[in-house]
Amino acid sequence: MNLLDKKTLLAPGPVPVPPKALLAMAKPVIHHRLPEFSAILSKIREDLKYLFQTKEDVLFFASSGTGAMESCVANLFSPGEKVIVVRGGKFGERWGKLAETYRLDPVYIDVEWGEAVPLEAVERALSENPDAKGLLIQAHETSTGVKHPVAEIASLTREKDILLVVDAISALGVYPLPFDELGIDAMVAGSQKSLALPPGLSFVALSQKAWDRVEKTTSPRYYFDFRKEKKALAKKTTAFTPAVSLLYGLSEILARIKEVGLERLFAHYQRLAGACRAGIAAMGLDLFAKAPCEALTIVKVPEGVDGAKLMKLMREKYQVTMAGGQAKLKGKVVRIAHLGYQGPLDVITALATLEMALTELGYKVPLGAGVAAAQKYFLANKEV
Ligand SMILES: *Cc1c(COP(=O)(O)O)cnc(C)c1O
Repeated sequence: MNLLDKKTLLAPGPVPVPPKALLAMAKPVIHHRLPEFSAILSKIREDLKYLFQTKEDVLFFASSGTGAMESCVANLFSPGEKVIVVRGGKFGERWGKLAETYRLDPVYIDVEWGEAVPLEAVERALSENPDAKGLLIQAHETSTGVKHPVAEIASLTREKDILLVVDAISALGVYPLPFDELGIDAMVAGSQKSLALPPGLSFVALSQKAWDRVEKTTSPRYYFDFRKEKKALAKKTTAFTPAVSLLYGLSEILARIKEVGLERLFAHYQRLAGACRAGIAAMGLDLFAKAPCEALTIVKVPEGVDGAKLMKLMREKYQVTMAGGQAKLKGKVVRIAHLGYQGPLDVITALATLEMALTELGYKVPLGAGVAAAQKYFLANKEV
Protein backbone atom coordinates (compact mmCIF):
# COMPACT_ATOMS: atom_id res chain seq x y z
CA MET A 1 0.00 0.00 0.00
CA ASN A 2 1.19 3.53 -0.76
CA LEU A 3 1.78 5.80 2.21
CA LEU A 4 -0.28 8.48 0.54
CA ASP A 5 -3.29 7.97 -1.63
CA LYS A 6 -2.41 10.77 -4.03
CA LYS A 7 -2.92 9.95 -7.64
CA THR A 8 -2.03 11.98 -10.69
CA LEU A 9 -3.87 11.36 -13.92
CA LEU A 10 -1.84 12.28 -17.00
CA ALA A 11 -3.50 10.06 -19.61
CA PRO A 12 -5.14 11.36 -22.78
CA GLY A 13 -8.59 10.83 -21.37
CA PRO A 14 -10.08 10.66 -18.94
CA VAL A 15 -8.40 13.69 -17.44
CA PRO A 16 -8.73 15.33 -13.99
CA VAL A 17 -11.87 17.38 -13.41
CA PRO A 18 -11.61 20.89 -11.91
CA PRO A 19 -13.14 21.20 -8.41
CA LYS A 20 -15.70 23.79 -9.55
CA ALA A 21 -17.10 21.35 -12.09
CA LEU A 22 -17.06 18.51 -9.54
CA LEU A 23 -19.07 20.64 -7.13
CA ALA A 24 -21.51 21.67 -9.85
CA MET A 25 -22.12 18.00 -10.60
CA ALA A 26 -22.90 17.30 -6.95
CA LYS A 27 -26.02 19.49 -7.14
CA PRO A 28 -29.37 17.72 -6.78
CA VAL A 29 -30.65 16.20 -9.99
CA ILE A 30 -33.53 18.11 -11.55
CA HIS A 31 -36.22 16.90 -13.92
CA HIS A 32 -35.34 17.45 -17.54
CA ARG A 33 -38.83 18.50 -18.63
CA LEU A 34 -38.92 21.53 -16.35
CA PRO A 35 -38.21 25.17 -17.28
CA GLU A 36 -35.25 25.05 -14.90
CA PHE A 37 -33.59 22.51 -17.17
CA SER A 38 -34.45 24.45 -20.33
CA ALA A 39 -32.67 27.47 -18.89
CA ILE A 40 -29.45 25.48 -18.38
CA LEU A 41 -29.83 23.92 -21.80
CA SER A 42 -30.18 27.31 -23.51
CA LYS A 43 -26.96 28.50 -21.95
CA ILE A 44 -25.14 25.29 -22.92
CA ARG A 45 -26.40 25.53 -26.51
CA GLU A 46 -24.99 29.02 -26.89
CA ASP A 47 -21.69 28.18 -25.27
CA LEU A 48 -21.23 25.03 -27.38
CA LYS A 49 -21.57 27.18 -30.50
CA TYR A 50 -18.72 29.32 -29.20
CA LEU A 51 -16.52 26.30 -28.51
CA PHE A 52 -17.17 24.64 -31.87
CA GLN A 53 -17.02 28.03 -33.64
CA THR A 54 -20.33 27.45 -35.41
CA LYS A 55 -23.69 29.13 -35.80
CA GLU A 56 -25.41 25.73 -35.88
CA ASP A 57 -26.70 23.83 -32.88
CA VAL A 58 -24.34 21.21 -31.47
CA LEU A 59 -26.07 17.95 -30.56
CA PHE A 60 -25.03 15.95 -27.51
CA PHE A 61 -25.63 12.43 -26.29
CA ALA A 62 -25.22 10.47 -23.07
CA SER A 63 -22.43 8.25 -24.37
CA SER A 64 -18.68 8.09 -24.69
CA GLY A 65 -17.15 9.72 -27.75
CA THR A 66 -17.52 6.58 -29.83
CA GLY A 67 -21.30 6.94 -29.60
CA ALA A 68 -21.10 10.27 -31.40
CA MET A 69 -18.80 8.70 -34.01
CA GLU A 70 -21.39 5.97 -34.54
CA SER A 71 -24.16 8.58 -34.75
CA CYS A 72 -22.36 10.25 -37.66
CA VAL A 73 -22.02 7.01 -39.57
CA ALA A 74 -25.68 6.10 -38.94
CA ASN A 75 -27.17 9.50 -39.79
CA LEU A 76 -24.99 10.73 -42.63
CA PHE A 77 -24.66 7.65 -44.85
CA SER A 78 -26.78 4.84 -46.29
CA PRO A 79 -25.80 1.19 -46.70
CA GLY A 80 -23.63 0.62 -49.75
CA GLU A 81 -22.39 4.22 -49.93
CA LYS A 82 -18.69 4.73 -50.40
CA VAL A 83 -16.70 6.59 -47.76
CA ILE A 84 -12.97 7.38 -47.65
CA VAL A 85 -11.43 6.52 -44.28
CA VAL A 86 -8.04 7.78 -43.15
CA ARG A 87 -6.57 4.89 -41.17
CA GLY A 88 -3.36 5.71 -39.37
CA GLY A 89 -4.05 4.52 -35.84
CA LYS A 90 -6.54 2.90 -33.55
CA PHE A 91 -9.18 5.59 -33.93
CA GLY A 92 -8.93 5.68 -37.71
CA GLU A 93 -9.49 1.93 -37.56
CA ARG A 94 -12.59 2.62 -35.48
CA TRP A 95 -14.08 4.78 -38.25
CA GLY A 96 -13.48 1.85 -40.57
CA LYS A 97 -15.13 -0.67 -38.26
CA LEU A 98 -18.14 1.59 -37.81
CA ALA A 99 -18.43 2.05 -41.58
CA GLU A 100 -18.27 -1.73 -42.06
CA THR A 101 -20.81 -2.32 -39.28
CA TYR A 102 -23.26 -0.02 -41.04
CA ARG A 103 -22.58 -1.80 -44.36
CA LEU A 104 -21.00 1.22 -45.99
CA ASP A 105 -18.28 0.70 -48.58
CA PRO A 106 -15.10 2.08 -47.00
CA VAL A 107 -12.06 2.92 -49.12
CA TYR A 108 -8.98 3.17 -46.91
CA ILE A 109 -6.10 5.57 -47.00
CA ASP A 110 -3.63 3.62 -44.91
CA VAL A 111 -1.12 5.80 -43.16
CA GLU A 112 2.00 4.64 -41.34
CA TRP A 113 1.40 4.93 -37.57
CA GLY A 114 3.12 8.09 -36.36
CA GLU A 115 2.68 9.95 -39.63
CA ALA A 116 0.05 12.45 -40.74
CA VAL A 117 -1.89 11.66 -43.88
CA PRO A 118 -0.14 13.27 -46.88
CA LEU A 119 -2.40 15.75 -48.61
CA GLU A 120 -1.58 14.15 -51.97
CA ALA A 121 -2.97 10.84 -50.75
CA VAL A 122 -6.26 12.55 -49.91
CA GLU A 123 -6.30 14.34 -53.28
CA ARG A 124 -5.70 11.04 -55.05
CA ALA A 125 -8.42 9.22 -53.11
CA LEU A 126 -10.88 12.00 -53.87
CA SER A 127 -10.15 11.98 -57.59
CA GLU A 128 -10.17 8.17 -57.80
CA ASN A 129 -13.47 7.96 -55.89
CA PRO A 130 -15.69 10.75 -57.18
CA ASP A 131 -18.70 8.78 -55.91
CA ALA A 132 -17.51 8.83 -52.28
CA LYS A 133 -20.10 10.39 -49.99
CA GLY A 134 -17.85 11.03 -47.03
CA LEU A 135 -14.30 11.41 -45.78
CA LEU A 136 -13.75 10.22 -42.20
CA ILE A 137 -10.68 11.33 -40.28
CA GLN A 138 -9.28 12.20 -36.85
CA ALA A 139 -8.08 15.72 -36.07
CA HIS A 140 -5.73 14.23 -33.47
CA GLU A 141 -5.12 10.50 -33.84
CA THR A 142 -4.71 10.01 -30.09
CA SER A 143 -3.17 6.54 -30.43
CA THR A 144 -0.18 7.89 -32.37
CA GLY A 145 -0.10 11.52 -31.18
CA VAL A 146 -0.40 12.78 -34.74
CA LYS A 147 -2.22 15.83 -36.02
CA HIS A 148 -3.80 15.32 -39.45
CA PRO A 149 -4.06 18.36 -41.76
CA VAL A 150 -7.81 18.88 -41.34
CA ALA A 151 -7.91 22.51 -42.49
CA GLU A 152 -6.12 21.66 -45.75
CA ILE A 153 -8.36 18.64 -46.30
CA ALA A 154 -11.44 20.77 -45.68
CA SER A 155 -10.36 23.04 -48.53
CA LEU A 156 -10.45 19.97 -50.82
CA THR A 157 -13.88 18.73 -49.70
CA ARG A 158 -15.71 22.01 -49.06
CA GLU A 159 -16.95 22.59 -52.59
CA LYS A 160 -17.57 18.93 -53.37
CA ASP A 161 -20.60 16.74 -52.79
CA ILE A 162 -18.83 14.89 -49.98
CA LEU A 163 -19.09 15.22 -46.21
CA LEU A 164 -15.96 15.80 -44.15
CA VAL A 165 -16.48 14.04 -40.83
CA VAL A 166 -13.88 14.87 -38.21
CA ASP A 167 -13.28 13.02 -34.95
CA ALA A 168 -12.03 15.88 -32.78
CA ILE A 169 -12.48 13.98 -29.52
CA SER A 170 -9.00 14.91 -28.29
CA ALA A 171 -8.63 18.05 -30.42
CA LEU A 172 -11.63 20.27 -29.78
CA GLY A 173 -10.56 23.34 -27.84
CA VAL A 174 -6.89 22.36 -28.11
CA TYR A 175 -6.03 23.98 -31.43
CA PRO A 176 -8.07 26.02 -33.91
CA LEU A 177 -10.68 23.99 -35.79
CA PRO A 178 -13.20 26.71 -36.69
CA PHE A 179 -16.08 24.54 -37.84
CA ASP A 180 -18.04 26.98 -40.03
CA GLU A 181 -15.02 28.77 -41.42
CA LEU A 182 -13.23 25.58 -42.49
CA GLY A 183 -16.40 24.06 -43.89
CA ILE A 184 -16.26 20.86 -41.86
CA ASP A 185 -19.54 18.90 -42.09
CA ALA A 186 -19.57 16.92 -38.87
CA MET A 187 -17.27 17.20 -35.87
CA VAL A 188 -17.31 14.88 -32.90
CA ALA A 189 -16.12 15.51 -29.34
CA GLY A 190 -16.26 13.83 -25.95
CA SER A 191 -16.45 15.12 -22.39
CA GLN A 192 -13.43 13.38 -20.89
CA LYS A 193 -10.65 14.95 -22.93
CA SER A 194 -10.13 18.69 -23.43
CA LEU A 195 -13.40 19.53 -21.69
CA ALA A 196 -12.05 18.09 -18.43
CA LEU A 197 -15.30 16.43 -17.42
CA PRO A 198 -15.94 12.82 -16.47
CA PRO A 199 -16.64 10.44 -19.36
CA GLY A 200 -20.27 10.18 -20.49
CA LEU A 201 -21.10 13.05 -22.83
CA SER A 202 -20.48 13.16 -26.55
CA PHE A 203 -21.07 15.97 -29.03
CA VAL A 204 -21.65 16.44 -32.77
CA ALA A 205 -21.64 19.69 -34.71
CA LEU A 206 -23.27 19.52 -38.15
CA SER A 207 -23.18 21.72 -41.23
CA GLN A 208 -26.22 22.53 -43.34
CA LYS A 209 -24.78 20.22 -45.99
CA ALA A 210 -24.76 17.42 -43.42
CA TRP A 211 -28.31 18.17 -42.29
CA ASP A 212 -29.52 17.95 -45.89
CA ARG A 213 -28.05 14.45 -45.97
CA VAL A 214 -29.57 13.38 -42.65
CA GLU A 215 -33.03 13.69 -44.12
CA LYS A 216 -32.23 11.31 -46.99
CA THR A 217 -30.14 8.53 -45.49
CA THR A 218 -31.59 5.11 -44.74
CA SER A 219 -29.26 3.55 -42.15
CA PRO A 220 -31.02 2.31 -39.01
CA ARG A 221 -30.82 4.58 -35.98
CA TYR A 222 -32.89 5.11 -32.89
CA TYR A 223 -31.22 6.67 -29.85
CA PHE A 224 -28.62 8.40 -31.99
CA ASP A 225 -31.14 9.91 -34.40
CA PHE A 226 -30.10 13.47 -35.20
CA ARG A 227 -33.65 14.35 -36.33
CA LYS A 228 -35.11 13.50 -32.91
CA GLU A 229 -32.53 15.63 -31.12
CA LYS A 230 -33.05 18.56 -33.47
CA LYS A 231 -36.79 18.46 -32.88
CA ALA A 232 -36.31 18.25 -29.12
CA LEU A 233 -33.82 21.12 -29.04
CA ALA A 234 -36.35 23.32 -30.84
CA LYS A 235 -38.62 22.65 -27.84
CA LYS A 236 -35.78 23.49 -25.44
CA THR A 237 -35.34 19.93 -24.25
CA THR A 238 -33.63 16.67 -25.28
CA ALA A 239 -35.18 13.63 -26.93
CA PHE A 240 -34.29 11.29 -24.05
CA THR A 241 -33.26 11.70 -20.43
CA PRO A 242 -30.03 13.69 -20.59
CA ALA A 243 -27.03 13.20 -18.30
CA VAL A 244 -28.26 16.05 -16.11
CA SER A 245 -25.37 16.00 -13.63
CA LEU A 246 -22.74 16.01 -16.37
CA LEU A 247 -24.54 18.93 -17.99
CA TYR A 248 -24.19 20.91 -14.77
CA GLY A 249 -20.46 20.30 -15.00
CA LEU A 250 -20.46 21.13 -18.72
CA SER A 251 -22.21 24.41 -18.10
CA GLU A 252 -19.48 25.37 -15.63
CA ILE A 253 -16.65 24.34 -17.99
CA LEU A 254 -18.11 26.06 -21.04
CA ALA A 255 -18.63 29.29 -19.13
CA ARG A 256 -15.00 29.15 -18.08
CA ILE A 257 -13.79 28.50 -21.62
CA LYS A 258 -15.75 31.51 -22.86
CA GLU A 259 -14.31 33.67 -20.11
CA VAL A 260 -10.74 32.61 -20.83
CA GLY A 261 -11.22 32.66 -24.59
CA LEU A 262 -10.25 30.09 -27.19
CA GLU A 263 -7.14 31.96 -28.29
CA ARG A 264 -5.60 31.81 -24.84
CA LEU A 265 -6.55 28.20 -24.50
CA PHE A 266 -4.88 27.27 -27.78
CA ALA A 267 -1.73 29.14 -26.75
CA HIS A 268 -1.78 27.33 -23.40
CA TYR A 269 -1.77 23.89 -25.02
CA GLN A 270 0.95 24.89 -27.43
CA ARG A 271 3.07 25.97 -24.50
CA LEU A 272 2.51 22.73 -22.59
CA ALA A 273 3.35 20.67 -25.67
CA GLY A 274 6.46 22.73 -26.38
CA ALA A 275 7.77 22.35 -22.85
CA CYS A 276 7.04 18.64 -22.73
CA ARG A 277 8.92 18.07 -25.99
CA ALA A 278 11.84 20.22 -24.86
CA GLY A 279 12.02 18.02 -21.76
CA ILE A 280 11.91 14.77 -23.70
CA ALA A 281 14.65 15.98 -26.06
CA ALA A 282 16.84 16.98 -23.12
CA MET A 283 16.44 13.49 -21.68
CA GLY A 284 17.77 12.09 -24.94
CA LEU A 285 14.52 10.28 -25.70
CA ASP A 286 12.71 10.13 -29.03
CA LEU A 287 9.24 11.31 -29.97
CA PHE A 288 7.02 8.84 -31.78
CA ALA A 289 4.85 11.16 -33.89
CA LYS A 290 6.38 12.86 -36.91
CA ALA A 291 3.63 15.51 -36.96
CA PRO A 292 2.84 15.78 -33.25
CA CYS A 293 -0.41 17.23 -31.94
CA GLU A 294 -0.73 19.56 -28.95
CA ALA A 295 -2.90 17.31 -26.79
CA LEU A 296 -0.30 14.72 -25.94
CA THR A 297 3.34 13.77 -26.39
CA ILE A 298 4.25 10.23 -27.29
CA VAL A 299 7.70 9.08 -26.28
CA LYS A 300 9.38 5.93 -27.53
CA VAL A 301 10.33 3.57 -24.71
CA PRO A 302 14.13 3.44 -24.97
CA GLU A 303 15.91 0.29 -26.11
CA GLY A 304 16.44 -2.17 -23.27
CA VAL A 305 13.59 -0.87 -21.11
CA ASP A 306 10.50 -3.03 -20.54
CA GLY A 307 7.60 -0.72 -21.44
CA ALA A 308 5.04 -2.63 -19.38
CA LYS A 309 7.32 -2.50 -16.32
CA LEU A 310 7.88 1.22 -16.81
CA MET A 311 4.15 1.98 -16.91
CA LYS A 312 3.51 -0.24 -13.87
CA LEU A 313 6.29 1.40 -11.85
CA MET A 314 5.04 4.90 -12.63
CA ARG A 315 1.45 3.91 -11.86
CA GLU A 316 2.01 1.89 -8.69
CA LYS A 317 4.98 3.51 -7.00
CA TYR A 318 4.60 7.09 -8.15
CA GLN A 319 0.82 6.90 -8.58
CA VAL A 320 1.15 8.70 -11.88
CA THR A 321 -1.02 7.33 -14.65
CA MET A 322 0.20 8.08 -18.12
CA ALA A 323 -1.00 5.91 -20.98
CA GLY A 324 0.94 3.15 -22.67
CA GLY A 325 0.72 2.27 -26.34
CA GLN A 326 -2.38 0.75 -27.89
CA ALA A 327 -2.52 -2.25 -30.22
CA LYS A 328 0.82 -2.59 -32.05
CA LEU A 329 2.37 0.16 -29.93
CA LYS A 330 1.77 -1.77 -26.69
CA GLY A 331 4.89 -1.65 -24.54
CA LYS A 332 6.69 0.54 -27.06
CA VAL A 333 5.60 4.07 -26.15
CA VAL A 334 4.50 6.27 -23.26
CA ARG A 335 1.70 8.72 -23.94
CA ILE A 336 1.87 11.85 -21.80
CA ALA A 337 -1.24 13.99 -21.97
CA HIS A 338 -1.21 17.75 -21.57
CA LEU A 339 -4.90 18.02 -22.13
CA GLY A 340 -7.85 19.39 -20.22
CA TYR A 341 -7.24 20.50 -16.67
CA GLN A 342 -3.43 20.39 -16.89
CA GLY A 343 -0.85 23.07 -16.31
CA PRO A 344 2.93 23.55 -16.49
CA LEU A 345 3.57 21.71 -13.23
CA ASP A 346 1.75 18.66 -14.56
CA VAL A 347 4.23 18.53 -17.43
CA ILE A 348 7.05 18.82 -14.89
CA THR A 349 5.50 15.99 -12.87
CA ALA A 350 5.35 13.78 -15.94
CA LEU A 351 8.97 14.43 -16.86
CA ALA A 352 10.22 13.99 -13.28
CA THR A 353 8.35 10.72 -12.94
CA LEU A 354 9.71 9.43 -16.22
CA GLU A 355 13.27 10.35 -15.22
CA MET A 356 13.03 8.60 -11.86
CA ALA A 357 11.28 5.50 -13.18
CA LEU A 358 13.74 5.08 -16.06
CA THR A 359 16.64 5.47 -13.64
CA GLU A 360 15.18 2.81 -11.36
CA LEU A 361 14.91 0.47 -14.31
CA GLY A 362 18.62 0.91 -14.99
CA TYR A 363 18.37 3.25 -17.94
CA LYS A 364 20.87 6.07 -17.90
CA VAL A 365 19.14 9.41 -18.01
CA PRO A 366 20.56 12.57 -16.40
CA LEU A 367 18.22 13.28 -13.49
CA GLY A 368 16.63 16.70 -13.78
CA ALA A 369 17.62 17.23 -17.41
CA GLY A 370 14.09 17.00 -18.76
CA VAL A 371 12.65 18.96 -15.85
CA ALA A 372 15.20 21.76 -16.29
CA ALA A 373 14.56 22.01 -20.01
CA ALA A 374 10.82 22.28 -19.44
CA GLN A 375 11.32 24.88 -16.72
CA LYS A 376 13.50 26.94 -19.08
CA TYR A 377 10.90 26.62 -21.81
CA PHE A 378 8.13 27.84 -19.53
CA LEU A 379 10.21 30.80 -18.35
CA ALA A 380 11.18 31.75 -21.89
CA ASN A 381 7.64 31.36 -23.23
CA LYS A 382 5.30 33.30 -21.00
CA GLU A 383 1.66 32.43 -20.59
CA VAL A 384 -0.55 34.65 -22.72
C1 LIG B 1 -10.60 8.98 -26.86
C2 LIG B 1 -10.83 8.98 -28.30
C3 LIG B 1 -11.86 8.23 -28.88
C4 LIG B 1 -12.72 7.30 -28.09
O1 LIG B 1 -13.58 7.97 -27.28
P1 LIG B 1 -14.43 7.18 -26.17
O2 LIG B 1 -14.94 8.32 -25.37
O3 LIG B 1 -13.48 6.30 -25.45
O4 LIG B 1 -15.49 6.43 -26.87
C5 LIG B 1 -12.05 8.32 -30.24
N1 LIG B 1 -11.28 9.08 -31.00
C6 LIG B 1 -10.27 9.81 -30.49
C7 LIG B 1 -9.43 10.65 -31.40
C8 LIG B 1 -10.02 9.78 -29.12
O5 LIG B 1 -9.02 10.51 -28.61
